[in-house]
Amino acid sequence: MRRISIFGATGSIGQSTIDLIARDPETYHVVALSGGRNVAQLAEDARKLNAEIAVTAEVARLSELRERLAGSGVEAAAGEAALIEAARRPADWVMSAIVGAAGLPPGLAALEQGATLALANKESMVCAGPLVMQTARAHGGAVLPVDSEHSAVFQALIGEDIAAVERVIITASGGAFRDWPLEKLAGATPEEAATHPNWDMGQRITIDSASMFNKALEVIETKEFFDIDPALIEVLVHPESMIHALVGFRDGALMAHVGPPDMRHAIGFALHYPERKTLPVARLDLVKLGQFTFRNACETRWPALRLAREVMAAGGLAGAVFNAAKERALDAFIARRIGFLRMAEVVEETLNRVSAQSGLITAGITLDNVRAADHFARVTADEIITQD
Ligand code: NAD
Ligand code: MG
Repeated sequence: MRRISIFGATGSIGQSTIDLIARDPETYHVVALSGGRNVAQLAEDARKLNAEIAVTAEVARLSELRERLAGSGVEAAAGEAALIEAARRPADWVMSAIVGAAGLPPGLAALEQGATLALANKESMVCAGPLVMQTARAHGGAVLPVDSEHSAVFQALIGEDIAAVERVIITASGGAFRDWPLEKLAGATPEEAATHPNWDMGQRITIDSASMFNKALEVIETKEFFDIDPALIEVLVHPESMIHALVGFRDGALMAHVGPPDMRHAIGFALHYPERKTLPVARLDLVKLGQFTFRNACETRWPALRLAREVMAAGGLAGAVFNAAKERALDAFIARRIGFLRMAEVVEETLNRVSAQSGLITAGITLDNVRAADHFARVTADEIITQD
């Protein structure tokens, strides 16, 4: 039996992962499941999958989790230390699907015990890409992309020479506001931003799709994952969300990955890699779809894309600062403390202020330094937001 753990099991990616493994219970032994405030879901899944341990990130919910697991034989635990302890338990395959920088420590712990890490948590790559890859190498593990664009690039690169890659194009739906007039964007509400035209995802990544912060994180993730020169990475708006990425080679060929917007493809690919197994995703009827369209990704409409280029040029811990500032700006937007367009301004100002502090961005990429840069960026972003 394959030993597997899922961090962020109660979220959108976590639930899709459970959907796949629950179809095949004989094959998997579930070691750990983690969640946040939804302990009812966590307990239900832990019982159903007969997990060894269920961990909630929220210490205040431990007693409720214990009650819900009473008599099941599933251990209950809570808090960040418990999350890391659970990630250290031997497992063959670990899904990293916590949202935000909080996903980094359990992912690293899973890699340290030699697991294959299926990485949905793009923030890990943005904050600490070199550390994640180096930890995998040092312990004989592997990192497999789960983000749909990166899974698509990974699949297009199988059997290819990376030196022959001329460009990598990742697509973006354009999110909720792709057709809104620019003047209207300042007044956009969290509810409007949290409706996605094509994908059904968690609230935070859906809003990040509307602002293109999601794509900005993914551009950085592409650089880190495939060690690709940022100059070769392009973003193209593709409203249908059927082509997830294209890889261009020096002979002029473009290899596109086409599939329905269903994360169970990328999750299932990472689960069965290097095999391809039958997956419960819709088969596309291309005649019915008729056409695929593309547009340029305008950096005036989506300044997050410009900021991603600046972050890659700065290198070091700039990604950790960028992500942390984005998380706080997003919190403030959701709480209606700042407007939609103010998010990118807060992130840019945070990057400028933190970069001015000598040594912070250029410190080595260790977990401690990532935590320090993340913390400093959050405090700085909060100061900027409070001044508003
Ligand atoms: P979600 O909000 O639906 O779920 C997040 C999960 O993380 C939940 O289990 C939640 O309880 C847990 N969590 C939240 N904060 C936590 C914290 N501080 N500590 C520990 N656990 C915490 O999010 P999602 O849409 O499933 O996205 C998860 C990750 O996958 C994100 O990094 C996202 O960018 C990435 N991703 C998601 C999709 C998608 O289709 N949903 C696609 C590509 C990549
Ligand atoms: Mg994606």
